[in-house]
Amino acid sequence: MYPNILRHPGPTPIPKKVQLAMNQDMISHRSEEFVQLYRKTTNRVKPIFGTKQEIILIPSGGTAALEAVAVNTVSPGEEVVVITVGAFGNYFVSICEKYGFKVHKLEKPWGEACTEEELSEFLKSLTNVKAVFATYNETSTGILNPVNRLAQVVRTQTDALFIVDGVSCIGGAPAEMDQWGIDILVTGSQKAMMLPPGLALLSVSDRAWKVIEKNQTPSYYLNLLSYREWAEKGMTPNTPAVSLIFGLSAVCDLIEEEGGFSQTVARHELMKNMVRQAMRALSIGLLTADEYASPTITAIKAPEGLNLGEFLGHLKKKYHLDFAGGLGHLQGKIFRFGHMGYCFPSDILQAVSLLEAGLQDFNYSFEPGAGVLAAQKVFLAAQQK
Ligand SMILES: *Cc1c(COP(=O)(O)O)cnc(C)c1O
Repeated sequence: MYPNILRHPGPTPIPKKVQLAMNQDMISHRSEEFVQLYRKTTNRVKPIFGTKQEIILIPSGGTAALEAVAVNTVSPGEEVVVITVGAFGNYFVSICEKYGFKVHKLEKPWGEACTEEELSEFLKSLTNVKAVFATYNETSTGILNPVNRLAQVVRTQTDALFIVDGVSCIGGAPAEMDQWGIDILVTGSQKAMMLPPGLALLSVSDRAWKVIEKNQTPSYYLNLLSYREWAEKGMTPNTPAVSLIFGLSAVCDLIEEEGGFSQTVARHELMKNMVRQAMRALSIGLLTADEYASPTITAIKAPEGLNLGEFLGHLKKKYHLDFAGGLGHLQGKIFRFGHMGYCFPSDILQAVSLLEAGLQDFNYSFEPGAGVLAAQKVFLAAQQK
């Protein structure tokens, strides 16, 4: 009966308008109607990526798109750098190792970002790197890597491609792929894009297409050249996720309704600040420094003296408030408060209020209302601007 308040980093809540759009009657993916839908929708997604390049749509989860961009750009035996600051950064490590690429791993402790100085130092000893892989938003820790500045370092010090996993932030974080010098940017549907799982989106720079044209690693379903060839005709090589593309079109309508993508980005920034100030007011620790804090997900330390597993279970059972736990060695130590996609300041006020109710149930020592008040102050200050 009660709705589940899904404050996860994906899948995330779906707007009603998007649900209804996905319920439309099916059309053929070789019809003129589809071509129009495809062309119009992919054009409207470009500002979300900050690119003038084509948006490629793969009917898959985010991981398949990560695999696609790796196999299409690098050949076995070639050298790559993978920047990893958490569980999702390790995806690119695993993919590259599986395909026999020579991986130089730039690893940071979970909860930290990779800075441009660190990347610059790391690249100094390497002379033959074909690609540098990075995560924009590390979903396991709530870290937003400074990919704009990392791109600069890659561009000035190497001829390598800079390939970015933006799965858990594109749609909620600023992205200027062309201007920043990102060669490939990847995202998935079920995180900040307000869609169900099953659609991956990516875009490729001219520089990267030249590399892809010469690449020798075999691929069939994930061959990006065939996606490009079909995209020129306004279609995809195989049957696309037609319903999700109907949904994507509705997502673009909603962003337009909000006042354009910069407003969407501003809303995520505001929600991030509301959550962080609320936790501070409750004396609950944050895993990350403000400077690198994610606008789409906040990693929060276990409130002092509480069994986190029991606490999260209680919030879910009694208040239908569903937070994500920690991954790997952070399990039981942090929880993750998702605020991406179809999420608003009002949802933050609701979640913080219910979190406080749970804290009272567990006799955590704090001033009731302090978290809500802090979040509300951030919210009101933003309204006055
Ligand atoms: C969720 C996520 C992925 C994996 O996406 P799937 O759709 O689960 O395959 C990859 N990278 C990041 C940063 C993610 O958050």
